[in-house]
Amino acid sequence: MPKHNRCLPLAAVILLLILQPSAIGHPPTNTPITRFQNYLRIYTAHPNPDYNTAVNYLTSFARTIPTLQIQTLHFTTPDKPLLLLTWPGSNPSLPSVLLNSHLDSVPAESSKWLHEPFEAHISPDGEIYARGAQDDKCIGMQYLEAIKELEINFHYSPTRTVHICYVPEEEVGGFDGMARLVKSEEFKKLKVGFVLDEGQASTTDQFRIFYADRSPWHVVIKATGEPGHGSRMYDNSAMENMMKSIEVITKFRENQFDLVKAGLAAPSEVISVNPVFLKAGIPSPTGFVMNMQPSEAEAGFDIRQPPTADPDLIRNRIAEEWAPEWRNMTYEITEKGTLKDFMGRPLMTATNDSNPWWPIFKQAVEAAGGKLAKPEILTSTTDARFMRQMGIPTFGFSPMKNTPILLHDHNEHLKDSVYLEGIQVYESIIRSLSSFDNASFRY
Ligand SMILES: [Zn+2]
Repeated sequence: MPKHNRCLPLAAVILLLILQPSAIGHPPTNTPITRFQNYLRIYTAHPNPDYNTAVNYLTSFARTIPTLQIQTLHFTTPDKPLLLLTWPGSNPSLPSVLLNSHLDSVPAESSKWLHEPFEAHISPDGEIYARGAQDDKCIGMQYLEAIKELEINFHYSPTRTVHICYVPEEEVGGFDGMARLVKSEEFKKLKVGFVLDEGQASTTDQFRIFYADRSPWHVVIKATGEPGHGSRMYDNSAMENMMKSIEVITKFRENQFDLVKAGLAAPSEVISVNPVFLKAGIPSPTGFVMNMQPSEAEAGFDIRQPPTADPDLIRNRIAEEWAPEWRNMTYEITEKGTLKDFMGRPLMTATNDSNPWWPIFKQAVEAAGGKLAKPEILTSTTDARFMRQMGIPTFGFSPMKNTPILLHDHNEHLKDSVYLEGIQVYESIIRSLSSFDNASFRY
């Protein structure tokens, strides 16, 4: 050790003791970024998400906001809690605002990642690597950070009640999470008038906003026919009938895809059809019997329809063209979601002045210096569909701009500055939505 370091003058020692840890090289440990990292470090990936640790963490943060009310609900088993926080408004007769996020994440193959997916490593340029960084632990923490800021630093209190909800099981369909909540007595008591749920990152400098999800159907078609020798050509074999159907379906798929390729529709605005399995043939020890035409053939398709589509049209098409009875075909449709709300209206939220929440939301984003891109339909599905089914206006929105879209991908990451800007955007949105007091608009 060099001589001049061996014995520090007393004044220097005192100075070091009174300095904050950050000033002597240790980063601060309780900032919005470290709190986000700590949430990201909780293992919430399927098939074994640790929901209770996530709920305990969020609860302890919620306790630092004095007026927040905290409830943990269980609709199924004790290992699937749902956290519901309430920021009471001064006028409880107004419909409330619900900010939703899900607790769970999809799995991550750590060998394909630059950093461990549940370590929340932050790179020197501020990129935070973690499963859930974009989908959707960011918004879950940003809601709370924004409310904390509004209450503690701005001494703001809402007119309209704001609820913040953390649900389990979104990544596996939401059936033991949001689907249960919206049907519950507890949900009725919330008098929800408007919901913000997760959206997706935007690669441009405009925030993306989603007003609908596409609805998935799983369709399995089956052909039957006389079996026969592989050398004989005859009409109506199972395979021949299946091939005819596949041709017709392929044509339909091409027509839809051409609209996207020509720039006439966004990928989420058309009906997508993708073959997911083909099953036929007579197994042999080395593969399949090659001189036998089988008596059965089956094919499965993943179909996604936007809420603008008429589900009866595709149902008729399946019955008459894709799997017609006269070609010895049968089919099974499993609707994984509906296209209409409980009143029979298309499952989408208006993005014009007919929806009183729309101008308030848009102006709030702009007031925070943000800009909204053209509203979109999400290509996949989220829990938002359960709220839209109840007739509640719901937008998908995650304030991440100039950010690569990495949900469910390897090396999911989010930049610290983007995350911090998102908190400010939510401050503006939550303040506007919770002070918006349009007496003519009641739940
Ligand atoms: Zn998500």
